[in-house]
Amino acid sequence: MTTVTREDFSCAAATDESAYRRVTVPVLRIDAGPGPAVALMAGVHGDEWEGQAAILELWHQLPGILNRGTVYLLPAANAEASLAGRRLSPNDGGNLNRAFLGHPARGYTESVAAALEAKLLPRVQALVDVHSGGASLRYLPSSVITRYGQDALDPRLPALARAFGLPHCIFFRGTEAGSMPAAASRHGVLRLSAEIGGGAETGQALVDRCREGLLGCLNELGLLDRELARPDPPALYDLDAPAATLRAHGPGVFIPGVELGQRISARQRVGRLIEPARPDMPAHTLLSPQAGTVLCLRAIARSDDGDCLLQAAPALPLDSLSSLY
Ligand SMILES: [Zn+2]
Repeated sequence: MTTVTREDFSCAAATDESAYRRVTVPVLRIDAGPGPAVALMAGVHGDEWEGQAAILELWHQLPGILNRGTVYLLPAANAEASLAGRRLSPNDGGNLNRAFLGHPARGYTESVAAALEAKLLPRVQALVDVHSGGASLRYLPSSVITRYGQDALDPRLPALARAFGLPHCIFFRGTEAGSMPAAASRHGVLRLSAEIGGGAETGQALVDRCREGLLGCLNELGLLDRELARPDPPALYDLDAPAATLRAHGPGVFIPGVELGQRISARQRVGRLIEPARPDMPAHTLLSPQAGTVLCLRAIARSDDGDCLLQAAPALPLDSLSSLY
């Protein structure tokens, strides 16, 4: 028999106007008997909507279909940022995906991270943490694998990425000790992420792909008995390679000349930075830093020095993951 309980976190979020204010982070525990415990999470960045919408759908659907094990659903891990439609916490400007630092919490964002680290990660064996491009970027829908050196769980990551069902998988090196996947790795939790959509908007088709990806992961982890056609392995893209990212080197309006998913060659023209208020200033032509597939584009035209404008990388076979760190 399946039981459903609320296990919300209440996190201190004081402001000048409200000394003892607290923010509730909604958590649903769905228990369907013996089996693995898995957390499905979104809204670590509050302006990333696909995962938040998909997990809210599962909040209502999953109790009726879970076959075994326990699932924790967190549709809006940074609840305050989600309510405000912001990437970072409005309360203290914190980035929840950099707040898992292991010292006592100094403010709202770190208290959410501390609650996740104390109350969630010790209880689960696997975590799927869905992100997107948020307001400033758009991603080609992709699963995401982050490696932290020799993590004993790494050999299981390709099967989980394949079960998510998207044809693309991004690889990152885990250099951010304060990130959610880094905390999961420290706790011995198998983890997969995703980057789906962005540009401060979303749509049902992206939400559907995200929800099916999460269900595919639960199936792979043994919590569902779905008869699924096994998707082809996704292509793997190393977005941590320095040549994968094209940044602005000065202010301008970004006019991309390529689309997400487009294959480009090295030094190909991929767009321009223009300055309409300074018509005598020549446009700055942007060249691809390397050959590959366009996986990420800046979604806000007005740009400045250091902004990420485009990410592209060549497709690698998924089984090359073991050699990437
Ligand atoms: Zn994010």
